[in-house]
Amino acid sequence: MEHITKTCPNCGNEFVVLKKVEEKAIYCTLECLSATQGNMKIEAISSKVSA
Ligand SMILES: [Zn+2]
Repeated sequence: MEHITKTCPNCGNEFVVLKKVEEKAIYCTLECLSATQGNMKIEAISSKVSA
């Protein structure tokens, strides 16, 4: 099976995923995924407040 090395956009870690899940695997861990979603939520809320 083919593997691809990706870089996590949240923490910059390099991690290896199967090629068939490459598009779904964006972050190295679920922690990074949820951290990013949390940030997006906070940004959405703060832009609402400032608007
Ligand atoms: Zn990460």
